[in-house]
Amino acid sequence: MTNAPPPPSTAAQSARTILTRLHEVMASRANAQGKLNQVVGIIGECLDSEVCSIYLLREGALELYATRGLKQEAVHVTRLGLGEGLVGMIADQIETLNLDEAAAHPDFSYRPETGEELFHSFAGVPIIRRERAVGVLCVQHADPRRYDDIEIETLQTVAMVLSELISNADLVDTAARTDAAAADQSAQRLNGQKLVDGMGAGVAVFHQPRITIEHTVADDTEAERHRVYAAFDKMREQIDRMASSADFGVGGEHEEVIETYKMFAYDEGWSRRINEAIDSGLTAEAAIERVQQRTRMRMRQIDDPLLRDRMHDLEDLSNRLIRIVSGQMGTAAQMGGLRQDSILIARNLGPAELLEYDRRRLKGVVLEEGSLTAHVIIVARAMGVPVMGRVSDVRASIREGDLLLLDSAAGSVHVRPTQAVQDAFDAKLEVSQKRRANLASLRDLPAVTKDGVPIELMINAGLREDIAALDLTGARGIGLFRTEFQFLVSATLPSRDRQQRLYRDVLDAAGDRPVIFRTVDIGGDKALPYMNVGDSAQEENPAMGWRALRLALEREGLLKVQARALMEAAAGRTLNVMFPMVSEPWEYEAARDLFVGQRAWLASHNKKLPVAIRYGAMLEVPGLLETLDLMLPHLDFLSIGTNDLTQFLFAADRAHPRLAERYDWLSPTVMRYLARVVRTVSGSKVALGVCGEMGGRPLEAMALLGVGIERLSITPAGVGPVKAMIRSLDLGALRADMPAILAQPSSNPRGQYQDWADSHQVDLGD
Ligand code: PEP
Ligand code: MG
Repeated sequence: MTNAPPPPSTAAQSARTILTRLHEVMASRANAQGKLNQVVGIIGECLDSEVCSIYLLREGALELYATRGLKQEAVHVTRLGLGEGLVGMIADQIETLNLDEAAAHPDFSYRPETGEELFHSFAGVPIIRRERAVGVLCVQHADPRRYDDIEIETLQTVAMVLSELISNADLVDTAARTDAAAADQSAQRLNGQKLVDGMGAGVAVFHQPRITIEHTVADDTEAERHRVYAAFDKMREQIDRMASSADFGVGGEHEEVIETYKMFAYDEGWSRRINEAIDSGLTAEAAIERVQQRTRMRMRQIDDPLLRDRMHDLEDLSNRLIRIVSGQMGTAAQMGGLRQDSILIARNLGPAELLEYDRRRLKGVVLEEGSLTAHVIIVARAMGVPVMGRVSDVRASIREGDLLLLDSAAGSVHVRPTQAVQDAFDAKLEVSQKRRANLASLRDLPAVTKDGVPIELMINAGLREDIAALDLTGARGIGLFRTEFQFLVSATLPSRDRQQRLYRDVLDAAGDRPVIFRTVDIGGDKALPYMNVGDSAQEENPAMGWRALRLALEREGLLKVQARALMEAAAGRTLNVMFPMVSEPWEYEAARDLFVGQRAWLASHNKKLPVAIRYGAMLEVPGLLETLDLMLPHLDFLSIGTNDLTQFLFAADRAHPRLAERYDWLSPTVMRYLARVVRTVSGSKVALGVCGEMGGRPLEAMALLGVGIERLSITPAGVGPVKAMIRSLDLGALRADMPAILAQPSSNPRGQYQDWADSHQVDLGD
């Protein structure tokens, strides 16, 4: 924030005029109803609007409390349920509406007692208290016209002040509703979505004891501005300190998280908007909250999950700023930390905030929001903390100190569990700990079948934290390193230096164990917000679109930078590089030629080079099998990506929830296809493996071995269970039975493999 504020904008001035008058009303001796009546008059007059109405939440419905312009008989008579009509929708969705023709909106609900048929245009904003809508402020006009941005922003600022007025006057009933629900002592089960797998038990700790903004209208604007300046300075100091002391070491995703934080902390646009809100007459706290509310509303309209996650980072900082400015500094971490085993609860959580907790006592996290790709989830995974997201109404169901049992794989958290639930949870936890301990004891044993066939078990990785899994699992190496992850978690395009640092760290950690780097698989559904690599929203079939190698060959600069970063990182060692989504041999040739060219360039500049470069392709596009024989002489290895391969074999979107269960990896379509690939490759020097999720499941892995696959690269969690399967398998017996299984598949192929495993005592876990 600069020290010379720009002159107040028109929006700020018009809000300020209204706020000054509202301030007088609030200070007056009128009763609450009298004040509301004056408020609608002032707003209607200042915005030159024929109608101005305030609806407040009472007994679960939105009741018309005050109006200028609608019939007075409707006051305290017209009531709309949450979600009913335009007003109900604004409160329910916490969103702003701005319509030139209200009646044309599908949610319009006509109430004859109000006389609103005379009015065409409509704009409404939610009145928000403690992140929930407690009412709606709206204006209407006889002419069909849209309200301009300045008017909408003014309404939003006024709504903020109103929330103070109505809660001071005890006019709404959310608090009562929430308290009643929270007072419920009975056991409850809340459902959500697994974000980080695991189980944990502990007492409920709310990350953020609520900060209630007591005063919204400022007495002295300049004083408020200085409070915000000071808070910004302090926040930036905190972020800079965090950057130098992040306890995950230098580099990696955490560095990128902090970089994103820094970008926002020093963002002029953000501080300017807060300054503008202060100009309109709000206190520092209210101004920050006002800007945050606007961000939240925008966030809801953003369809891009990555961008949404970045917005969560901004929200994290905004909360921090309010806490600093209000002197209510404490998150639970800052106010003494965790005193016992705890499950942390938050609406959402910033990654930096999570890092502030003592990980020995943090047994789990429950979020009201949260998404798989959020930064905080990457951090939680690295910390080994189970996380469940998308749990609704936690504040209403859980109280500080309640006992919680979190089972994120089951998508459940038990609140104040009964003894029976607790016993069942303990038993399940014990079994899973025992099984994990058993599997861990397999770590140093070879992955060899009962009849002596060695199987190469590698892991899939993509983040710096995943490297630790190599030692934990005892895997032979990394069979798929998804380099695009660094691009996806980054706020800006990773420079060659940053790429090179990551690759070198991975190779250093792997030591003698091989690492196969896959060149970036971006584009399509993995869009990068900071880079124009095609708009997935405009692609009808992004998975089949301009992605992976297709994109990389056209954006040569990107691939060249990556090629050099990989070669310099692997100087003096063997580099294994693999190209994704190869559809025809020429694409593979072109990518390899590009690498050969970059190698020559580095050599001509006297750079140290890898001692050898091994080239591989992914088989993900079914059609490639038709020309695979032409490619084999030029390949060192081939890796089957069954995630994409099966979606293309069945023409069934891998992310489509309705199709998720429809086709089985064990279906004869997949197994016969894979057997054909094995036949085509056999006799060549090409090493063939599978790196899709399929290989991480014991039964599917067994079937893969059955058709002749002997190299698997799988999710680290799958290594133990798959190794247990391998060590209990008589592969010769399975291969003898495979031709019959493929020739005469049953209508239930999964059952067929399962029966075979059962009758041959194959260890498939539980
Ligand atoms: C695959 O498609 O099977 C694969 C391993 O690649 P990704 O899951 O990254 O698309
Ligand atoms: Mg793939």
